[in-house]
Amino acid sequence: MSRILDGKLVRDRILDELKPRVEVLRAKGRAPGLAVVLAGENPASEIYVRNKVKACQELGIFSEKLTPPHSVTTVELLAVVESLNRRDEIDGILVQMPLPPQADSKQVLLAIDPLKDVDGFHPYNVGNLVAGNPGPRACTPAGIMELLRRNGIEIEGRRAVVVGRSDIVGKPMAMLLLHAHATVTICHSKTPDLAAVCREADLLVAAIGRPALIRGNFVKAGAVVVDVGMNRLGSRAEVEQVFGSSAAKLEEFEKKGSLLIGDVHPLELEHASAYTPVPGGVGPLTIAMLMANTVAAAERRIG
Ligand code: NAP
Repeated sequence: MSRILDGKLVRDRILDELKPRVEVLRAKGRAPGLAVVLAGENPASEIYVRNKVKACQELGIFSEKLTPPHSVTTVELLAVVESLNRRDEIDGILVQMPLPPQADSKQVLLAIDPLKDVDGFHPYNVGNLVAGNPGPRACTPAGIMELLRRNGIEIEGRRAVVVGRSDIVGKPMAMLLLHAHATVTICHSKTPDLAAVCREADLLVAAIGRPALIRGNFVKAGAVVVDVGMNRLGSRAEVEQVFGSSAAKLEEFEKKGSLLIGDVHPLELEHASAYTPVPGGVGPLTIAMLMANTVAAAERRIG
């Protein structure tokens, strides 16, 4: 039987542990503060930002949402970031990606004060990650490390394969696993014979964005599988391709209008020793780690 690694459980523990730290900061004078910049109208980004603001409210973290229009320029966004850099009561700045196409996201991320970079995307903090210095880490990979640690999954000395090399998931994930003494391989769209490389993994992390690309024959018996992917199946044909004629899944699809699945085939995990489900695995941890990074930034700034 494969063990399910429950992200909601770990998220709740992380948030519970943050509450007394927020109280200490409030007793010292003020709550931690997070500013979220949401440029333009992107329905998915609006949902992510709403959830981030809600998490702040539940923890007693001050939050402020700034909503420049879709036509916002790079120069205007730089001015927004610079004014947030100067404000004392703001400890964390998050610029929700993707930005409208005319805005230069690299330039905007570079403008964020590294001390307020709660996403861990600033090159200064990426450098700290590579060097193993303290500092904020990208939230999704940091959440995965918490999930593994709190479930007693051994990393040291094991073979880890990370599929995906994005700046927000794949690369920082590989670096965190390397620092935890795994032997790490990073795969991407040009990796030949992906299945064979994945089969070498004791710990397989899929961060691809392709529904059910990782099949049962990619997974070594006893491996731990972490599925970062969040993919929406939007047609009955797509649902049938993954789940066959499963009446329950087709009914769920008809009710919701789409189905969320990961990068790993959900019906082909029987020989993994443990795995993260989608939904309910990695997803809940990202916002918890954003809250953790915000509290840590406030602690560093308030003292
Ligand atoms: P991304 O920037 O699009 O990167 C995808 C990576 O997958 C790229 O490195 C790409 O390779 C690789 N790839 C694409 N097709 C491949 C194939 N056929 N074989 C092997 N590698 C392939 O995506 P991302 O931002 O890292 O996100 C990945 C997934 O995680 C998405 O589904 C996203 O929604 C999800 N996600 C979830 C959370 C969460 O909180 N749960 C957070 C962030 C992301 P190349 O570099 O060669 O193009």
